[in-house]
Amino acid sequence: MKVIMLGAPGAGKGTRAALLSEKLSIPHISTGDIFRANIKNGTELGKLAQSYMDKGELVPDSLVCDLVVDRIQQPDCENGFILDGFPRTIPQAEALKEALDSIGEKLDHVINVYAPDEHIVNRMSGRRSCSQCGAVFHVEFAPSSKGDICDKCGGSLIQRDDDKPETVKKRLEVYYEQTYPLLEYYEKQGLVKTVDATGGVETALSDLLKAIGA
Ligand code: ADP
Ligand code: ZN
Repeated sequence: MKVIMLGAPGAGKGTRAALLSEKLSIPHISTGDIFRANIKNGTELGKLAQSYMDKGELVPDSLVCDLVVDRIQQPDCENGFILDGFPRTIPQAEALKEALDSIGEKLDHVINVYAPDEHIVNRMSGRRSCSQCGAVFHVEFAPSSKGDICDKCGGSLIQRDDDKPETVKKRLEVYYEQTYPLLEYYEKQGLVKTVDATGGVETALSDLLKAIGA
């Protein structure tokens, strides 16, 4: 099954993509995670991506498309994948379509993870990530039982630079300008299913499964 998760930054795409990935046993491919791993490892790609990410801007399509097209052709994607954070622009969606067309495949579902802006701003300002394993927590909604230490690996929890309030505002603007049009693009193809992300994560998996008819 080939699934795309769409939604504003901080709407909860990543958490939901991880749940669905586990349930369906297909890879969760997050372009944000790929860039952060590259930044952490000091790669050339990481250096290029960081300057954009820190400003809340999108990394140029030229740096993203080949990376994803290559990733979805790896053997572990044989039974499908969940794309989280890609595509984010119409040209990215076109690049994905071209790659899938060339192997006679198509997308099954586009899940629109919806939450109103005020939820998003709250959610992002309280978000903390583990500096070691990348696990995501929230000071209010999903705290680590060890405070600012990661439950899973003992690493220290930090606020992503791009979760700082000024950058959050910029990321929302960029979302409405560049990514929101993808909803209409995929609606025309009859692929969009919306899930409400204002609630907690308890019902998230069953909502997702209902949305994709599984
Ligand atoms: P969120 O969905 O919460 O904004 P992500 O982890 O998906 O967070 O992305 C973080 C940043 O990485 C984005 O603000 C952007 O700079 C960059 N990025 C991730 N995916 C893409 C993409 N498909 N195209 C361009 N930039 C991207
Ligand atoms: Zn950790």
